[in-house]
Amino acid sequence: MYKICPSCGNKNQVTETLCIICMADISSINPVTESQQLNEQKILEETKELPKQESKFLYLVLLENKEIKLEIVNNAIIGRYYLGKEIFEKLSNPKLISRQHINVFFKDNRWYVRDLNSTNGTYLKYLDNSELKLEPYKDYELKENYALNLAKIIYFIVKTNI
Ligand SMILES: [Zn+2]
Repeated sequence: MYKICPSCGNKNQVTETLCIICMADISSINPVTESQQLNEQKILEETKELPKQESKFLYLVLLENKEIKLEIVNNAIIGRYYLGKEIFEKLSNPKLISRQHINVFFKDNRWYVRDLNSTNGTYLKYLDNSELKLEPYKDYELKENYALNLAKIIYFIVKTNI
């Protein structure tokens, strides 16, 4: 197990609270195992190799204000230090959102979401209004009009076409 620095990507010992390379605060980073990390890297590499004209787009539209949306091109990490940070900063309690909360990616012609072991969880709401809590590092398919709820404080609607 080790802690991956969100600033420079260095793999730190789980006992470290500051990154030994760039001194970023990693006290609240959740440790990951080697296999979780390899899986993550593999998906990032696979989707980065997509030729530009084949880029896939997915939108996460804020439920309470449809003008605000996150645009995901092929693959993105969403969290307080990544995509969406400007939105999360405005929440009454931004720290409920983990620095790396979810990964949304396109693979084998489908969109998936994966919870990155977030502290306060991710919930997926289907078209029949049933809702489930994502297990960390497990992939769940995303489809049009599904809703994603991060940490029970912010809702996004999945849109493939805007
Ligand atoms: Zn670092």
